[in-house]
Amino acid sequence: MKTRLFVSEALINGTVVVVEGDRARYLGRVLRLRTGDPITVFDGTGPEWPATIENMTKSTVTLQVGDSREAGTESPLKIHLVQGVSRGERMDFVVQKATELGVKRITPVLTEYGVVKLDGDRAAKRREHWAGVAVSACEQSGRTRPPLIDAPISLKQWFGAKPAGADVDLILRPGAGTPLAGATAPATKACILVGPEGGFSDTEYEDAEVAGFDAVSLGPRILRTETAAAAALAIMQSVWGDLRK
Ligand code: SAH
Repeated sequence: MKTRLFVSEALINGTVVVVEGDRARYLGRVLRLRTGDPITVFDGTGPEWPATIENMTKSTVTLQVGDSREAGTESPLKIHLVQGVSRGERMDFVVQKATELGVKRITPVLTEYGVVKLDGDRAAKRREHWAGVAVSACEQSGRTRPPLIDAPISLKQWFGAKPAGADVDLILRPGAGTPLAGATAPATKACILVGPEGGFSDTEYEDAEVAGFDAVSLGPRILRTETAAAAALAIMQSVWGDLRK
């Protein structure tokens, strides 16, 4: 498969782009690409561009960019995942799988039973790390728009400042009477809350209900938080999104 590379500067048809540092070394040393090799680049705005490696040094790669084309990998269903922050690797898994499954926005929330505490500095570092995980998942999966990753926020605060706009608001709750696949279909936007390892507290379920969230189930087995997020997104894309075709 052709290498796909995210570049942070805005791409324009026919221009030359110089990639430096770690990303350049990755193309040369790890992927062993050479002058003349074709790659695909994207800048996060939607399209992708074919490009050719024009020149390589130890720390720079010069790319000749062609004409943009649509990748067709973004789902028309806009899913906003509000995810209880779980321990390191688990949360990385959620961000990676959610990106592969076409999520548009991820809000990491700190909950009552959550085991992770994040202060200002660590929160900013985690967010940056998760943004990197999402970009890698876009490169690997063919997506061209990395999901927006919000700064971690307490669930209580998030309910207070909840962005309006989803057609359907759902919360995953073991034992809920309605299966996720049977929830009201969103026109284009759905928001889904997934608990951390320890689940949500009764107060959090009440706050969610007051905020207009419908409780839905993923069946009779309790899934780990990262499994629940991935399963929920796959179901939503297959019932309402781009896994239908
Ligand atoms: N002991 C916790 C389990 C947490 S599992 C509890 O009883 O709530 C982590 C999260 O995954 C849950 O908070 C929920 O949002 C989701 N989840 C896991 N299995 C589920 C299921 N069968 N139905 C609905 N949500 C589920």
